[in-house]
Amino acid sequence: MSPAVGPKPCTLFCPNCSQRVTTRVKSKSTTKTHILALILCCLMCWPCACCLYCTKLARNSNHYCPNCKAFVGTYKR
Ligand SMILES: [Zn+2]
Repeated sequence: MSPAVGPKPCTLFCPNCSQRVTTRVKSKSTTKTHILALILCCLMCWPCACCLYCTKLARNSNHYCPNCKAFVGTYKR
């Protein structure tokens, strides 16, 4: 079971090393982001597609333990 995490770094107990840590967050593009970008490209709106990849709106946040580098959880938008 992965702990509930938000879009920002959270302080929690790492399930892997059992230490109290503040998670490191990495944003990851979702499949939805790619599909939307592809549609925008088809509509000749490729600058919009670039903007889509620059914005953090359409991304998930993956949380990692800074201590043992284990994957802690994902925050889905
Ligand atoms: Zn850990």
